[in-house]
Amino acid sequence: MNKTGFGFMRLPQKEEKIDFSLLCQMVDAFIKRGGTYFDTAYIYLDGESEEALKKTVVERYPRESFQIADKLPSWRIKSHEDCQRYFDEQLRRCGVTYFDVYLVHSLTEENYKVCEKTDQFAFVRKMKAEGKARQIGFSFHGSPELLEQILADHPEVDCVLLQINYLDWDSVSVQSRRCYEVAAKYGKRILVMEPVKGGTLAKLPEKAEALLRSFRPDWSIPSWAIRFVTSLEKVDIVLSGMNTLEQIYDNMQAFEPLTQEERECLAQTADIIRAGTAIQCTGCDYCTPNCPTGIPIPQFFKLFNEYSQSGEAGNLQEQYDALADAGSKASACIECSQCEQSCPQKLEITNLLKLTARAFG
Ligand code: SF4
Ligand code: SF4
Repeated sequence: MNKTGFGFMRLPQKEEKIDFSLLCQMVDAFIKRGGTYFDTAYIYLDGESEEALKKTVVERYPRESFQIADKLPSWRIKSHEDCQRYFDEQLRRCGVTYFDVYLVHSLTEENYKVCEKTDQFAFVRKMKAEGKARQIGFSFHGSPELLEQILADHPEVDCVLLQINYLDWDSVSVQSRRCYEVAAKYGKRILVMEPVKGGTLAKLPEKAEALLRSFRPDWSIPSWAIRFVTSLEKVDIVLSGMNTLEQIYDNMQAFEPLTQEERECLAQTADIIRAGTAIQCTGCDYCTPNCPTGIPIPQFFKLFNEYSQSGEAGNLQEQYDALADAGSKASACIECSQCEQSCPQKLEITNLLKLTARAFG
């Protein structure tokens, strides 16, 4: 079975709208190659992701021929009754009567407190009992210790969605390896997000690319990242946020598991990337909705990374100025820390914005 799942978090765009014609072609190519698993969430693209799933998959294929995973926005739930309201709205937006997988979205230390206070697991259990969610679980952005606690508190969950990729495997902040080991110990179905780390592992610093190309000239750079996660024995589904047909063709090959030598080559590559990437931002955009000053945080961090690699501002300064004009400058940060609480990568955003402000003025 092909392990690739189609992530509907970042979709192809044309003139700042979803490119439905291309998306339909991509869905067809994905299904033709044996793909059946689609992943969305209430918050993706402000609800347009769920509606795009309805239009491009649900209305074009028989319901039992594919699976949909959707997610309850845990941090937005103010009372237990809210859960049902969101769930019903999600069913309606997706045009379905049940979800194959329903996850409490983005459990962190903070969100888990909200989740427990409003008894969200009792709600997802109820949906499973009513046949409206075939499997239940949660997506996770926390420490291995927190993961262990949640799995011990809630043995009823069937699956967990973890951030795993070769750069985060041994990282101090994300600790992919340890989270994978905890989930495996509890015998849960393991789903993977960010295998290419928001595109970061699709285009690497020159030295890292040269290393991978010297080892396997015929493999694409992003396929190394997909091969890494699909090689993990306990991983069941790997979500890939694809937005071109070429990415579908590339991600859905029948990959052989990596050899020990190839894994070592990736570990060396990760060292090179870490040394050359100043800010490990995935561009997920979770930080921006609550920023009172409207700072385009991920876009600024992308420019800063390019600046640190080239050492000169050049035309990056123009891009920075355009973004600052449309939103706010990096120096407008009032250090309220709201963004840091929602950053899955646990970045010290306020400090990093100070560096950005210093680089671009
Ligand atoms: S700390 Fe700065 S960047 Fe973060 S939400 Fe507050 S104002 Fe925005
Ligand atoms: S700073 Fe954090 S939350 Fe914001 S886009 Fe980057 S990784 Fe996502």
